[in-house]
Amino acid sequence: MSDAPVPVEPPATIVCVDCGGTCHLLSTPYEDEDGRAGFRAGDIVSYRCADCLDRWDVELDETDAPEP
Ligand SMILES: [Zn+2]
Repeated sequence: MSDAPVPVEPPATIVCVDCGGTCHLLSTPYEDEDGRAGFRAGDIVSYRCADCLDRWDVELDETDAPEP
């Protein structure tokens, strides 16, 4: 078990569970002291539906990591 953060890439949009509309990513990536920015597994990111304006909070996990 390592506590090193796993960099992940959340999708820019998801499909709204309620209405099938497009939800856009609201959250901005963290920025490291060395200037790198991104998201880590375990981060909570928020999406806002363009159609019904519902907000969705999604926890990222390692399955969101880009293919090596
Ligand atoms: Zn919606």
